[in-house]
Amino acid sequence: KTILNNIELLPADALFGIKQRFSQDNREPKVDLGIGAYRDNTGKPWVLPSVKAAEKLIQEDPTYNHEYLSISGLPQLTSGASKIMFGEDSTAAKEKRIISVQSLSGTGALHIAAKFFSLFFKEKLVYLSTPTWPNHKNVFETQGLKTSAYPYWNDADKSLDLEGFVRSIKDAPSGSIFLLHACAHNPTGLDPTKEQWGTILDEIAKKGHIALFDSAYQGFASGDLDNDAFAVRLGVEKLSEVSPIFICQSFAKNVGMYGERVGCFHLIVPRQEPSVDVDSIKKAINSQLAKIVRSEVSTPAAYGAKIVAKILNEPSLTQQWHKDMVTMSSRITKMRHSLRDHLVALGTPGNWDHIVNQCGMFSYTGLTAEMVARLESNHAVYLVSSGRASIAGLNDGNVEYVAKAIDEVVR
Ligand code: PLP
Repeated sequence: KTILNNIELLPADALFGIKQRFSQDNREPKVDLGIGAYRDNTGKPWVLPSVKAAEKLIQEDPTYNHEYLSISGLPQLTSGASKIMFGEDSTAAKEKRIISVQSLSGTGALHIAAKFFSLFFKEKLVYLSTPTWPNHKNVFETQGLKTSAYPYWNDADKSLDLEGFVRSIKDAPSGSIFLLHACAHNPTGLDPTKEQWGTILDEIAKKGHIALFDSAYQGFASGDLDNDAFAVRLGVEKLSEVSPIFICQSFAKNVGMYGERVGCFHLIVPRQEPSVDVDSIKKAINSQLAKIVRSEVSTPAAYGAKIVAKILNEPSLTQQWHKDMVTMSSRITKMRHSLRDHLVALGTPGNWDHIVNQCGMFSYTGLTAEMVARLESNHAVYLVSSGRASIAGLNDGNVEYVAKAIDEVVR
């Protein structure tokens, strides 16, 4: 018997389990609607034209190398990332209240946030939406933080439970942390309206809570970066007098850089009395963030950061990227309509309008765990048991097949 013998076996990650079963499945056709990664209309991963062009420029540059980045990351990435998130004319930027460091994609940014909370606000509860991306709980609890839940999804009519959400904000101990999905909520694909965001953020401000925005899909919900940053920018406006704001930004989906792990963590320091020395507060925070990054990854990953920085700073590439985001988001919208229309044409029992009303990569279909299991066993159509389908996995060649499979399991 050794000290290793009693280590508990944990269940495999649900999503990666699906990926494995899918790749071992020899049936044809088979359809993967599990993992949230964009596929083109032939079902293949897509390298964005803006990424290809950026890579070419980087490799042709005579100063090309693989040196270490600085601890806080590539400045052209963090400054460009901050501009698209907060806007060109952001007041917080003008007032120099934004601190940005590069992270290992969105998860790495969430991890930096969790580490920061565990060091400085250990006693605070982190409120997560029900449902949410399952890894949220993991990331915060692994740092010893306690999580709680706020209602979000109203199952009966597939709408936002605004009343429940607001009640939770009111009931939470003042100064709690609320994790908010900036846009394209995962898994439901349902975002608050602009008006509802106003209500939510006003209530958060009233209670002096801290907003933590998780922005993993900017540009994916509407195809437009500014539109998709609405909630974050409104939050910055409404909360700047109240509390710090944390933003975790991923470039996995909107630049298609999934495996390259490009992201940023931003912290907005609240406005202070004129007598307070904000510079020294920022210096202290920067030093703590540098220690977190240094102790965990030493310096951030360079290659993907250089590609994204090029796209953000070279106007012709930025323009191409904007087109690429429209290509992705409009293909997904088209597939939503196609799936809904096929289900309606088949007379599949139920109302399927939520599929077109939701946005982003996912649709929370309303299919039960039993139906999902049957989709996999009888039709080789794979999705997570919650009924969340990655619409990016649909294409002109398989959408009718998927609709017929859904029709069969629903009846
Ligand atoms: N947050 C949400 C809501 C997500 O859906 C994801 C990815 O699926 C992430 C964060 C983090 O993704 P990544 O670490 O690949 O940037």
